[in-house]
Amino acid sequence: MRTLIKNGTVVTASEETLADVLVDGEKVAGLAAPDRHGWTADKVIDATGRLVVPGGLDVHTHMELPFGGTFASDSFETGTRAAAWGGSTTIIDFAVQAKGQNLMDGFEAWMGKAERNCAIDYGMHLIVGDVTDQSLKEMDIAMGEGVTSFKMFMAYPGVFYSTDGEIFRAMQVAAESGATIMMHAENGIAIDVLIAQALARGETDPIYHGVVRKSILEGEATHRAIALAELAGCPLYVVHMSAQEALAEVTNARDEGMDIFAETCPQYLFLDLDDLGNGFEGAKFVCSPPLRDRSEGHQEALWSGLATNDLQVVSTDHCPFCFNDHATLGRQKRLGEGDFSKIPNGLPGVEHRMELIYHGAVAEDRLSVKRWVEVCAATPAKMFGLYPQKGTVAVGSDADLVVFNPNAPHTLSASTHHMNTDYSCYEGLTLQGKVETVLSRGKTVIENDSYVGQKGDGKYLRRELNQYLT
Ligand SMILES: [Zn+2]
Repeated sequence: MRTLIKNGTVVTASEETLADVLVDGEKVAGLAAPDRHGWTADKVIDATGRLVVPGGLDVHTHMELPFGGTFASDSFETGTRAAAWGGSTTIIDFAVQAKGQNLMDGFEAWMGKAERNCAIDYGMHLIVGDVTDQSLKEMDIAMGEGVTSFKMFMAYPGVFYSTDGEIFRAMQVAAESGATIMMHAENGIAIDVLIAQALARGETDPIYHGVVRKSILEGEATHRAIALAELAGCPLYVVHMSAQEALAEVTNARDEGMDIFAETCPQYLFLDLDDLGNGFEGAKFVCSPPLRDRSEGHQEALWSGLATNDLQVVSTDHCPFCFNDHATLGRQKRLGEGDFSKIPNGLPGVEHRMELIYHGAVAEDRLSVKRWVEVCAATPAKMFGLYPQKGTVAVGSDADLVVFNPNAPHTLSASTHHMNTDYSCYEGLTLQGKVETVLSRGKTVIENDSYVGQKGDGKYLRRELNQYLT
């Protein structure tokens, strides 16, 4: 099967050129100026006036995550399909080692959930939830399965939380193998004190979730994580950065030449503390770290961090829960009625990352179109050992391709999105630019406003080490 994408502007992290793209089987087989070739194909896609970009990599998703007494409402089937609708053709999800379990038990469990269900290719990180001699040994076994990044938490005492000593031990193992430690950097111990004090004052609404999780505690934890990583000598990737204090820490470390990296998410670039207001409606916007006070300048700091490469990646932290009760999963966000600390943390977002960031970056003139491709595709591919198989449009790369119409408007709504949640964080927001056609390893999965792929099309990706290591 050969597909020819004609007359589009091909954009990668480094180039922007008018070119035709020939796809043969699962790979890109040719790139040439339009009509400077004699290629024939079984299928021709006219991309006149469109951008042709590499499929996005969303390196931070939580399909079916157990959290707070329920499960994230997107399965690997529904979540990866929604990702495809939005132009992401790879996800990296987080397998979870629960307390008392072996690390590889978590890996096997998540592989079981994903296998034969995914619409697009997928990789796994592993959450190290219980640091023991055995789980530290199993980090190296996981590396053999293509898991080259391990996530730890300075937040959520009693659930995912690890002490500084546990974190440091895992970092020492990572320093030996070259694995990247990913960190949820918030001081969960201090936050739990503030939560208890707020609840004791009767401050139970969702807004207080945002009020108690102070940005200074994200900055503090980020500083501590960097210091521990420096001492251990391992690469560190700070996930879902929301606070300018945290960004300043990463910026300083990078200026010193350390292997310190960070991502942010669309919600921290588009939404703010005010969204957590309006009574219990604010539960729709509860995630951690929380949405920040716009007047404090976090959003502008994050956008400028993306411009200067102090921030390298945009991922979604997709972890959806329904606002109203779910048919089979029961109560989700409403578990926290009367107590904000019981609201499951997480937002739906996997579908809208590419379009939101195009809008905020290119349409609103903050970043170049190449930088959009870089933060959404090329850099995540390199950061997690998948480049140039993923993250670019080049001969020999996987034919994960998105035909993007930069002039079409797209209004986001729960009534039209494909994520398995009953609300949208961006209800009614009209973006400039829309994903029109998506190929995943050469196979068309989205075209003419339809999903034409099948569950099980997606394959597991064994990943190499972080490709930025100095
Ligand atoms: Zn997460």
